[in-house]
Amino acid sequence: MVDGHTGLVDILSEVRAQLWSMRELGLDRLALKVPAPPKQAQHSPFNGPRDRHILAKEELQPIIKPAPRTRPAVAVTQAAGFHLPEVGNASLEDIRQELGDCKRCGLCQERTNIVFGEGHDRARLVFVGEWPGQDEDMSGRPLAGTTPGSAGEMFTNILKAINISRQEVYLTSVVKCRPLANQRPDKEEIVTCRPFLEKQLAVIKPQIVCALGQLAAQVLLNSSGRLTQLRSKFYQVGPFQVLPTYHPAYLLTNPKLKRPVWEDVQLLVRVYDSKS
Ligand code: SF4
Repeated sequence: MVDGHTGLVDILSEVRAQLWSMRELGLDRLALKVPAPPKQAQHSPFNGPRDRHILAKEELQPIIKPAPRTRPAVAVTQAAGFHLPEVGNASLEDIRQELGDCKRCGLCQERTNIVFGEGHDRARLVFVGEWPGQDEDMSGRPLAGTTPGSAGEMFTNILKAINISRQEVYLTSVVKCRPLANQRPDKEEIVTCRPFLEKQLAVIKPQIVCALGQLAAQVLLNSSGRLTQLRSKFYQVGPFQVLPTYHPAYLLTNPKLKRPVWEDVQLLVRVYDSKS
């Protein structure tokens, strides 16, 4: 049973979300269908012109009664997924120190900075990207770019729209160094860096992991599937649930994907809120 106030807050929240989504999609106006004015009543001694300020009782009743708001449970698919190592009392700082000035794979050669990750060390929600982009490589921070039209700005806008702050989540990526020419890392590079992601997740113990991009989804779900098939569903992977969606950088060149991403983040918020 949803009380009136909660129902109204939900409706306003969804309207706001929908407007944000439309604006992101480049829609800057709404087409409203204006109902035709009622026909003028015949003037007669028994049916004179109505005082427009006096409304009949039935006109004061809501025309559309809100439908009862039921929220079906989100289905969760089991996935073989991910191995979380035993980390004891290790902290994220311990894992960062273990990584050091890493030269374990060839990606060390082109990087400017290692992009280890940042955010809340006990975040309930972790975002895992694929590999650092140019802004991240320069700053050493994941998805922190503020340049208009950057993946960082896009990601920040998504978080703002769903009222989640960067401080309450954790951001990292599958590999921590930017590949030459932004190419997808090869299998050996992924396998070499992956244990550090596993340790980060083992320390943080999130409830939800949002995989940003195909590589992140494949690594977290231990799958070779394409993102188009994997996305928009929750998968139980050991102690946490994984939701794959497109990486914000991908939206910059494929704006049509903003709507599916928006649908995914709505799903994400629903489950995130239900676990709070
Ligand atoms: S990608 Fe990972 S394993 Fe490779 S050099 Fe960078 S930190 Fe080390």
